[in-house]
Amino acid sequence: MSERDVVIVGGGHNGLACAAYLARAGMDTLVLERHAVEGGASITQEAWPGYQVSSAAYVMSLMPQKIVDELELEKFGYKVTVLDPDYFVPYTDSTSLALWSDPNKAAESIRQFSKADAESYIEFDRYFHRVADLMRDLLFVIPPNLSFSEIPGFVRTAAKLRHWTRKDIAEVVRLFTVSGVDFLDEWFEDDRVKGALGTQTILGAWCGPMSPGSAYVLVHHWIGQVKGVQGAWGWAHGGMGAVSRAIGDSARAKGAEIRTGAAVRRVVIRDGRAVGVELEDGETIHARRVISSAHPITTYMDLIGEENLDAEVVKNVKRYQTRSGTVKVNLAMNELPRPMGWTGPMPGPPHSGIFAISPSLEYLERAWDDAKYGRSSANPYIEGVFPTYFEPQLAPEGKHMALFYTQFGPFELAEGSWETEREKYGKNVIRIVDEHCPGFADSVEHMEVLAPPDLEERFGLIGGNIMQGEMSVNQMFSFRPIPDYGDYRSPVSGFYLCGSGTHPGGGVSGIPARNCAQVVAGDRRRDRLRFWRR
Ligand SMILES: Cc1cc2nc3c(=O)[nH]c(=O)nc-3n(C[C@H](O)[C@H](O)[C@H](O)COP(=O)(O)OP(=O)(O)OC[C@H]3O[C@@H](n4cnc5c(N)ncnc54)[C@H](O)[C@@H]3O)c2cc1C
Repeated sequence: MSERDVVIVGGGHNGLACAAYLARAGMDTLVLERHAVEGGASITQEAWPGYQVSSAAYVMSLMPQKIVDELELEKFGYKVTVLDPDYFVPYTDSTSLALWSDPNKAAESIRQFSKADAESYIEFDRYFHRVADLMRDLLFVIPPNLSFSEIPGFVRTAAKLRHWTRKDIAEVVRLFTVSGVDFLDEWFEDDRVKGALGTQTILGAWCGPMSPGSAYVLVHHWIGQVKGVQGAWGWAHGGMGAVSRAIGDSARAKGAEIRTGAAVRRVVIRDGRAVGVELEDGETIHARRVISSAHPITTYMDLIGEENLDAEVVKNVKRYQTRSGTVKVNLAMNELPRPMGWTGPMPGPPHSGIFAISPSLEYLERAWDDAKYGRSSANPYIEGVFPTYFEPQLAPEGKHMALFYTQFGPFELAEGSWETEREKYGKNVIRIVDEHCPGFADSVEHMEVLAPPDLEERFGLIGGNIMQGEMSVNQMFSFRPIPDYGDYRSPVSGFYLCGSGTHPGGGVSGIPARNCAQVVAGDRRRDRLRFWRR
């Protein structure tokens, strides 16, 4: 009976990255992905003939250069272009705001609405660089669990944070707890400026900008870097599937095997230890260690099974929050949109960055108001990219795409069902963009709407939450996904988690995978030492 060193359940980008690290550590690694294509929520699919669509995730931001370099991703085709402006926000009065990655240039754009805000922005940018630097210290930390035996882990974490001042700590605590509105009100006066910056207080979150804690969502994005530009978004050439493919190729190059069309039914547990997995087709694969990159609820309740868990763990898994109002609207058009009153180059700044409809914080809060009572937002938040600006070959000649990420459409609707709501929602998004870019509606030739139940069904994202679980303070660091198991281990010996449901959370970053691989490799070294000492 052959036995693998490691079997990884799920070939999303984290499962693949974990395999790439473990294969580099000399471990015989097998990835099992239930779908025909690897990549999970980071994929490129042909939605309509000739259109290569990043169906779910659409831009890069959170993958540190360290991971790109360690996994030699550029050698395997990984290429990103920084999106600039970071955000381009058009208004129905023919004005627009461009938040360029150069803060001075962004301030110039802000100056048309408020001189005071233009000045504040330079300071705000500096402040966020500082806070993001602080938060970045925590990304590669293995979160210690809350027990006396883990005091060395806390000491190690404290050592990493030794340069944090008392003021820094106070700022971080504030950001984790205050609302985006309270936070932005301190800095800015103009509604349009606050609306443009406030987009990031709700991204992927089940809350509005007035909800306590929403200020942190803003920081999560600023932690990211693309080609050294902090807080930037990046277009991945070939779409997000090319990122997953580069990671998969990096793993394969070091000997890892990646099997698609291989759905895992359960983890095989013997005497409290994971010893392999059983596939849906009945095959059993033996392994010394098993890792899951699937959603934490799937991992705990389906793969491990309630019967193998104690009541406290089951209680914590059941209260893991994974709600969402994200609806992805992918469109094919025969031309790129021209914002109302835009006299600049075509294509140009409206297409070279993130295009967003977010006129004010009140607009975002009202979008949330609808969702919390089970209705799709009458006027949803919309942001997106136009991939053909970067790579015309992703669509047939002369055609274009818009990948719109929108909020909110609740998973459970108070009335009706997504069967009928899907088209209505998509058409409403087109209507709003058309109000800002006349003629847009007539240019649309195809539409794909992925509502929260679709994200759950297609990508295994329970509740449709794009981060494999909400990024609220009760579900972060040592508490992600559940208390006592924030260190990538689980109650089952030899069984680990490495997906976005672990620290530091969602986004195409590869960080949970790297951290988990470190824990697994460390445990293997310890087990070997114990064996030789016997
Ligand atoms: C609409 C949308 C937009 C997003 N936009 C962005 C963005 O622009 N930028 C960004 O950085 N992030 C974005 N995200 C978030 C990001 O895509 C996810 O956080 C990330 O891709 C999750 O990666 P993962 O590897 O942790 O998990 P997943 O990608 O969820 O991978 C888990 C894998 O496990 C597989 N699996 C599950 N159960 C089994 C089983 N029993 N047997 C075998 N395989 C199994 C699944 O099929 C899946 O492939 C977005 C997500 C969505 C849904």
